[in-house]
Amino acid sequence: MVADTSSAVRLPSKAYAAMAASEDLVPWDFTRRNVGPHDVLIEILYCGVCHTDIHFVRNDFGMSMYPLVPGHEIVGRVLNIGDHVKKYKAGDTVGIGCLVESCRECDNCKNEQEQYCLKGSTYTYSSPEKGGDGFTYGGYSNQIVCNEDFVLKVNDKLPLDKVAPLLCAGITTYSPLRKWKVTAGQRVAILGLGGLGHMGVKFAAAFGAEVTVLSTSASKKDDAMKLGAHRFVLTTDEGQVLASQNYFDFILDTVSAEHDYNFYLSMLRTHGVMVCVGLPSTPAVVPAFNLIFHGRSLSGSLIGGLAETQEMLDFCAANNITSDVEVINMKYINEAYARMEKSDVKYRFVIDMATL
Ligand SMILES: [Zn+2]
Ligand SMILES: [Zn+2]
Repeated sequence: MVADTSSAVRLPSKAYAAMAASEDLVPWDFTRRNVGPHDVLIEILYCGVCHTDIHFVRNDFGMSMYPLVPGHEIVGRVLNIGDHVKKYKAGDTVGIGCLVESCRECDNCKNEQEQYCLKGSTYTYSSPEKGGDGFTYGGYSNQIVCNEDFVLKVNDKLPLDKVAPLLCAGITTYSPLRKWKVTAGQRVAILGLGGLGHMGVKFAAAFGAEVTVLSTSASKKDDAMKLGAHRFVLTTDEGQVLASQNYFDFILDTVSAEHDYNFYLSMLRTHGVMVCVGLPSTPAVVPAFNLIFHGRSLSGSLIGGLAETQEMLDFCAANNITSDVEVINMKYINEAYARMEKSDVKYRFVIDMATL
């Protein structure tokens, strides 16, 4: 079915939203833009709960717009399409991650790096809507409208609740491992075993690397091994830390709490690379000494572009990789946030949107 694309029409929609930074999420009725010629209307089936959602609800980055509907790990089914849409038809299983638009003209957009759009990409929530006067609302909602170029194909042979977190946690860890060409024979460490870290373990193991989980908590060891790690280093144990000096080719740092980068850099071999994907709110002190004398690199990485996100989803379908999730009712979201702040989830909450 081809949609009525009149822009005067708006689509009544339902969501859970935060009305202000200090408040819990509550049910909220609103409208979305109508399906434009290049748009796809998607019924949301599942939405993952990312730590960034909590940061935005609380306005930790000082850029939140309210009412705020979080959610950028979206899996759903196409309900309707605009009359110029080529890639999708009603009934297709699809996903949306952290991006819903970009300028499409800058060097980064032209090079499939839309996440680094030089004019500022449009994020899935709390971001000024391109060509509109409002801002975007995310996936804690019954439906969403998105330009087809920012919609991803999802293979529905995988359980869709476990696919949802791939759209942020998956691509955030897949992209740096690919960029730095992690492969068989390399020693890779994953620092932190949460939503991001557990996906990092799965990808690094799938790429053939020897995978070590670095953690301050001995209780994580069994889980690390079950997820595919080969080794576990308890970073509060001096002997294990000493044995890990100059050991790793690559460290994926997923920790968002304040921590000492220097402590982990010393575990890199010569020409080793540490990539940060966690975002501590305080700056870190990194002595150049520890980089220069071993030719080490410290880098960062933000999600991935659309083409690479599709590549990641296809890789997951081909290799049977999904996220470990706890599916929740929409009404449980405020308790879920409280548990996430205590790292009490294995490893991602996913909202069953049928409960909205
Ligand atoms: Zn996220
Ligand atoms: Zn751009």
